[in-house]
Amino acid sequence: MKLVLASKNRHKAEEMQAILGGKITLITQDEAGVGDLDVIEDGDTFEENAIKKAVTIMNATGLPCIADDSGLCVDALGGAPGVYTARFAGENATDDENIEKLLAELEGIEKEKRTARFVCVIAVSFPGREPITFRGECEGLILTEKHGENGFGYDPVFFVEQFGKTMAELPADVKNSISHRGCALAKLKIEE
Ligand code: IMP
Repeated sequence: MKLVLASKNRHKAEEMQAILGGKITLITQDEAGVGDLDVIEDGDTFEENAIKKAVTIMNATGLPCIADDSGLCVDALGGAPGVYTARFAGENATDDENIEKLLAELEGIEKEKRTARFVCVIAVSFPGREPITFRGECEGLILTEKHGENGFGYDPVFFVEQFGKTMAELPADVKNSISHRGCALAKLKIEE
C-alpha cells in the first residue's frame, strides 16, 4: 500500500519508513506533486494538527495520506512546549536553538523533576472516509547537556531510563522500538 506522507521532515520520513517496513511505502509530498504545499499547524492538540495535515494533503492529491504531529511535553513547564515544540525558540528555530531554550527554562530544576514525554499522533486519511488517529508516548528525563549524535530534534537531551542513554545515543532500531512514533505506528499496523 502507498501513502503520501504529509511532512517535509526528512528525519521523520526515514524513521516512519523504517518502522513501517515493506508493507507500506511512503511517498513524499514532492513525489505526489504537492511539494510546495505547506499546512499551517495552528491546532491546540496534536490530534487536530495531524488530522489537518493528512486531510489537506489528501484533498490536494486525491490519494490516501498519513501525517505525524509530534512534540515534547515537559512536566515542570506545565506540558510545554507541546504543540509548539518545533518552534519553541521561534519560527524556523534550529534544533540547537530549541534545546538551548529548553535547558535555560529548566535551569536549576533537579533531576527528579525533569520528567517529560515525547508524544506522537499519527493521522491516516483515505478519500471518502473519516480520518483516524493513533497516539504513542515515550517517557524520559531532560538532561542538563547534550549527549549523542543520532536521531534529531530534542533527542540529545532526552534520557531514556530503561537504557541509561539519551535517544541520540541509541541505535535507530532501538529508538524506533520504544519511541512515541514507533508506538503510534505499531497501532496502525495492528488495525491495517
Ligand atoms: P512537528 O513537525 O510539528 O510534528 O514538530 C515536531 C517537533 O518535535 C520536531 O521539530 C522535533 O523538534 C520534536 N520531535 C518530534 N519527534 C521527535 C523525536 O523523535 N526526537 C526528537 N525530537 C522530536
